[in-house]
Amino acid sequence: MRRSPSAGWVEVDTEAIDRNIRTIRAELGGQAEFCAVVKADGYGHGVELVTPLLIRNGIGVIGFTSNDEAALVRSLGFTGRLMRLRPGTREEIDDALRHGVEEWVGGVEHACVVATVARERRRRIRAHLSLNSTGLSRDGLAVGDRSSDEVILSAIRDPALRVVGVCSHFPCEDRADVREGSARFDRESDEVIGLLGPGAPRPQRHCATTFAALHESGSRFDMVRIGAGLYGDSDALGGALRPALRLVSSIAAINVYPAGSTVGYERRHRLTDQATLAVVPLGYADGYHRSLGGRAEVLVRGKRAPVVDRLAMNTFIVDVSGILDARVGDEVVAYGAQGADAITAADIERFTGHIAADLYTAWGRLLPRVPATIAERATAG
Ligand SMILES: *Cc1c(COP(=O)(O)O)cnc(C)c1O
Repeated sequence: MRRSPSAGWVEVDTEAIDRNIRTIRAELGGQAEFCAVVKADGYGHGVELVTPLLIRNGIGVIGFTSNDEAALVRSLGFTGRLMRLRPGTREEIDDALRHGVEEWVGGVEHACVVATVARERRRRIRAHLSLNSTGLSRDGLAVGDRSSDEVILSAIRDPALRVVGVCSHFPCEDRADVREGSARFDRESDEVIGLLGPGAPRPQRHCATTFAALHESGSRFDMVRIGAGLYGDSDALGGALRPALRLVSSIAAINVYPAGSTVGYERRHRLTDQATLAVVPLGYADGYHRSLGGRAEVLVRGKRAPVVDRLAMNTFIVDVSGILDARVGDEVVAYGAQGADAITAADIERFTGHIAADLYTAWGRLLPRVPATIAERATAG
């Protein structure tokens, strides 16, 4: 069936992701295993687009959160390890047995949930014990606390579980914080592994995300969990990683309004001069967050133009008075590069006060997604 034309779409540059994988792997230099994170549907880039790149590059471990992601990764032919990056619910853990995943054990009671599922299904579940060494205080066991220590010990001895990892997760993208957390994780994970006794297979130790792994090599331990870096949402490595996503629309209409006109809902914006205003058919229902209204800039003909006042559900207005050759049908880039300029993750954070991932993970799931090569062909005519 022919797909209806869309007023906006997300363009995914698979070539950029491919290059980012290789750049990060070269930086790791085989020192630590590379777990590629595809949660939130590959940070909105699409598990179906990202997974083949991971397979082609020989990535051995994929980090996921939802069972749908796990199922899709398997259906695309990935036969390596799949690690859930948060505590799963009882139903998820049970259902995920068919995908052969490793579960994140995130607390005293949660350890019992995982073990119960394993016993009921007469299976052995490969488990990662999350420790609160970094002080995220979300789903980590507090080493030194009596009930946590008992759980750690019983998880290690429980035949229903096989502890293949000991992990933690950083609360801050701050080098000193990462160094301190890593030092404590080093001590506490060693203590936990010591409980396994001699001769037991040694679990992998892992706590690093993109920021930690690429800024503080001492945080890498046996494995690093890389999400943002894959998609180029990181300024690590001297800016060598390339952003892989563009949010693209086009000018649907252009009108000139005289000074004194109010623009948009609530009459909050009044024109001090005559202005040429372009209508862009994207809005907050498409994930173009309301916090961008009156603050963001977009690219038209390679130049920046301000988003005027509040967004509507499926429309926003851009002042193109400074872009004399702007025409109906022109490409509008709300995120990513156009010509020599780009709307970056840092721009989005400056416009909204939110991290860019908060927004782009939604765009990718609300709008049609196309690989960049197809998009290039389509715009070329
Ligand atoms: C999302 C996530 C990661 C990846 O973090 P990035 O900063 O995107 O690299 C790693 N570990 C856990 C537990 C996560 O939830």
